[in-house]
Amino acid sequence: MDFKDLPLDNRLQTALDTMQVATLTPVQEQAIPKGLMGKDLLASSKTGSGKTLAFLVPAVQRLLSQKALSKRDPRALILAPTRELAKQVFGVAKALTSKQGLQCTVIVGGENYNDQAKALRRNPHIVVGTAGRIFDHLEARHLFLNGLELLILDEADRMLELGFEKALQYIHKSADHRKRQTMMFSATMDSAEISHMTQLMLKSPEKIRIDKVATGHEDIAQRFYFADGVEHKNDLLVKCLKLEGREQALVFTATRDDTQRIVQWLKQHQISAAFLHGELLQNQRSAVINDFTRGKTGVLVTTDLASRGLDIANIAKVINYDLPKFADEYIHRIGRTGRAGNQGKAASLVSKKDWASLLAIQERLKHRFEFSVFDGLEASFKGLGLHPKQSKAAGSGKPQATKHKKVKDQRKKTTRFDPSQSRELGFVPVKRKPKDE
Ligand code: ADP
Ligand code: MG
Repeated sequence: MDFKDLPLDNRLQTALDTMQVATLTPVQEQAIPKGLMGKDLLASSKTGSGKTLAFLVPAVQRLLSQKALSKRDPRALILAPTRELAKQVFGVAKALTSKQGLQCTVIVGGENYNDQAKALRRNPHIVVGTAGRIFDHLEARHLFLNGLELLILDEADRMLELGFEKALQYIHKSADHRKRQTMMFSATMDSAEISHMTQLMLKSPEKIRIDKVATGHEDIAQRFYFADGVEHKNDLLVKCLKLEGREQALVFTATRDDTQRIVQWLKQHQISAAFLHGELLQNQRSAVINDFTRGKTGVLVTTDLASRGLDIANIAKVINYDLPKFADEYIHRIGRTGRAGNQGKAASLVSKKDWASLLAIQERLKHRFEFSVFDGLEASFKGLGLHPKQSKAAGSGKPQATKHKKVKDQRKKTTRFDPSQSRELGFVPVKRKPKDE
């Protein structure tokens, strides 16, 4: 199906033509017609499959074709888990609406609060933002959502993982009326928290689930290498990055400190690299992303801050220097490559401390991975010998308990709440409410 087969406003059609999208992706084929009918949606489809337009097209069409419920309140609110993703979605929203008299604004943490309050006083039609800062403006009565017509949650599961449930509930209550249409999108949507949230927020939603991620992502070649520790991982990393020429790559690590350490190491090997983590100032974060997007930096070393949603055209490979704690994050990390039908490559370095995570990922993807080796860089670690079938089902994608003591001990580490991970995304955990993302 093509976009021109849809009953869209000419101005929206023109904007889509300018973006050079003609044929709908599978998730768009299902979500857009249902979204246009005004239905609530709960949609999951793999990374890079075009979910942004799947919610923006019906949203913009509704704003263009229906009379506003309120002259002052925003008509559509789109929430994302990180500032970077919010800005990216804002960019697409702007491209779709700039020539049709719809004003958009982006409201994220780390940016000037008063400027945002001022922007909100101009009564934008579409607000894209992160839950913590939107919550602050709601509480400060800079923002009212009584007239909200569309509430959209991108990467909804991640927002819950980051502790934004209260903020989301508050936002939901501030816009709780019969005419609101709500859409939730992610590549992963299986957690118990999500079903609680969907019951609260969605009215008889249409459930869309395209090519379950559990079957893997056929456009991404995934390789795994055993590693013995930090120094060995460093060598393996350089090898992976130099393989097949100097392509742009994204490297994920477990901690902020590691991102910096690894960049130093790569620079010693004449590899142009930069690091990104949640403790950088917002303008630094933006500059790093900008340089990488424009190809000025070859390798971006980052934490899970960049695992969700980012759509950067040239990322040829993703390397997991450490495996993520949760299997779902593995899916999102590797999903930064192989987007929109392109081929991508992913490599993961697996040492003893990554083993429990590997088992969880194998369970989640229902696939047992083979390991590769580089000549001269063989590891003495060969795994802890536990076949994934021996561990219990990992329904939520989180590492699960097994009978094997060694793995069980590691699991404790991997499932424990880790405030540094939340801080990583710029969110400082506080008892009452998350302040920022
Ligand atoms: P997701 O949110 O599912 O991870 P995105 O919405 O970020 O994916 O889209 C991934 C990429 O695919 C973007 O670069 C986007 O411009 C492109 N894209 C989206 N829809 C289409 C389409 N119908 N045809 C071609 N490319 C598309
Ligand atoms: Mg997305």
